[in-house]
Amino acid sequence: MKRFLPYFTLLRPLKWKFIVGILSGVIAAFASGFGLPFMTKEVFPLIFRSEETSCSACSESEEGPSAWMSSLIEAFGLDPASPAAVTVFACCLLPMVFLMRGVFGYINIYLTNWVGLKVLEAIRLRVFDRLQRLSLSFHQRHKEGDILTRVMGDTAQLQTVIVRVSNDLVIQPFTLLSAVGYLVYAAVTDSKVFFILIALLSLPVCIIPIRFFGKRLFKKAQSLQAKTGDMTAAVSENLACQQEVRAYNMQDQQVSWVESLSQQFLRFQMGVIKYRYLISPAVEIVAATGISFAIYYGARNGMSLESFISLAIALHLAYEPIKKVGTIHSLIKQGEASLDRLEEILHSEDEIKDAPQAQEMKSVHGAVAMNHVTFSYGDHVALSDINVAIDAGQTVALVGPSGAGKSTFASLIPRFYEVDSGEVTIDGVNVSAVKKKDLRQQIALVSQHPLLFRGTIEDNIRIGNPSATEDQIIEAARKAHAHEFISKQPEGYDTQVGERGEGLSGGQKQRAAIARAFLKDAPILIMDEATSALDTESEAQIQAQLQELAKGRTTLIIAHRFSTIKIADRILVFDKGHIIADGPHEEIYRSCKLYKDLYDQQLGEEHAS
Ligand code: ATP
Repeated sequence: MKRFLPYFTLLRPLKWKFIVGILSGVIAAFASGFGLPFMTKEVFPLIFRSEETSCSACSESEEGPSAWMSSLIEAFGLDPASPAAVTVFACCLLPMVFLMRGVFGYINIYLTNWVGLKVLEAIRLRVFDRLQRLSLSFHQRHKEGDILTRVMGDTAQLQTVIVRVSNDLVIQPFTLLSAVGYLVYAAVTDSKVFFILIALLSLPVCIIPIRFFGKRLFKKAQSLQAKTGDMTAAVSENLACQQEVRAYNMQDQQVSWVESLSQQFLRFQMGVIKYRYLISPAVEIVAATGISFAIYYGARNGMSLESFISLAIALHLAYEPIKKVGTIHSLIKQGEASLDRLEEILHSEDEIKDAPQAQEMKSVHGAVAMNHVTFSYGDHVALSDINVAIDAGQTVALVGPSGAGKSTFASLIPRFYEVDSGEVTIDGVNVSAVKKKDLRQQIALVSQHPLLFRGTIEDNIRIGNPSATEDQIIEAARKAHAHEFISKQPEGYDTQVGERGEGLSGGQKQRAAIARAFLKDAPILIMDEATSALDTESEAQIQAQLQELAKGRTTLIIAHRFSTIKIADRILVFDKGHIIADGPHEEIYRSCKLYKDLYDQQLGEEHAS
């Protein structure tokens, strides 16, 4: 359990609930482990004696209630000398023991579950919070399905473990202690049953199979959770590419791929089942051996029937918790495997941290510069020794073949990635020396494939400025030419959009994202193919607005369509991670062959179409 303990410190405000839960468990366990065998040995014989149904086996109890039992009967306002009163007392005691066991057992389970699930909630939120803050490189290194499985699957696994373990965590060990306590009490008070303690010697032996199978179970559970991640990744990737699957007739290939993953998944599932369900029979075999010793010695020593039955109950009550503790152990091992995977996220280093003395960046003019910047994705150099200075308010188009490094260049300005060497500056200040939050507040981004969040269209535009008024939102939508299509939606700005903006066309999503950028009104604007999903007419409409938006702010446009770069003051031509030309259109059309070829090729395509 010590792996889980650090998370319990999150629950200081709940400590009283936790303590009450534990104490209730102790009382319920005492009622079971001590109360039940005690009833059998001390109380039931009183009934038979008092009802004069004596038999040779009951001879021990014919002496009547012991002194302390008599005072207990008296405390209930009954006469210990009256057989009828003793019968009433004895008959009332049994439901009372069960009432105690039931009520305190329930309080224990309710409160420990509550505390356990609160711990789980804290873990889940911490993981999600961490995922929001880790660098983009982290997300690119991990499969989406694997992360999803960790956040949902591993926490669900932990939930099952917590619920099941909470039910037994306190009650079972204390039932064991109480039952052992009773056995010791019986052995001390009756020399004939002293040998019974031999049976207890087998209790520690039960630990061996629990630990042996527990270790193997942990490894299997870890592999199973990893396989669950692979399966989720495969299915979520498949669902995202349904059009491609049909277009390329990939159905059979996809099914056989998932089938092979599913078979591996099944293998690991069976591995977990194998070890998890081996623990219980192994403990039972050890326990049965111990009990058979007790029966043997009991028979040989002429022990009374009620003594024997009470001891058998106490032994059963001692072994049962050990079996359950074995199950708890196996569950905790499974939970630990899930916790390991969640902690991998929790303990992941954020590669893009605020420097200890990070400065604030409140308002900037927007002069962007890169000095000797080199950047690689792992071993792959994407930008090499980039030197460029963009004046505040300039509109710059980034042009070049696919994979030349345009998007990478743009993503270094909001510090989505850390440069390998050199520096990126805004108004002369190194972006890695300022607070990330402030830096990103200065930049509006419209990406190639804008995604909308679940919620209304208004909520999605408001992301640009959470304190904007309704009028400001409508104004931004008008500027982005989004107002018209939004007004035609059944509920206008209150229309709900589904996951990733489902229900809107690519162009509509892009306009909503442009409206969001208008609303943000940041001094630096980055548009990565911002108008690529618009038809030529809409694009022409929005050109004037983009020009308007670009006024007074530094704008970087990554554009494949040359029509979108007409508004640019300056063009940077990228090729294989280098800037090979820099200047206005006319100048580089004359001086840069690559640019001329790209331009002429597109012009030709446009004429042809
Ligand atoms: P496009 O016009 O096709 O969007 P681009 O000019 O914007 O291309 P980048 O996306 O910046 O090019 O990519 C530059 C290089 O870095 C390419 O070779 C690309 O394969 C590589 N690259 C981009 N993103 C990653 C990534 N997340 N991990 C590894 N390599 C990447």
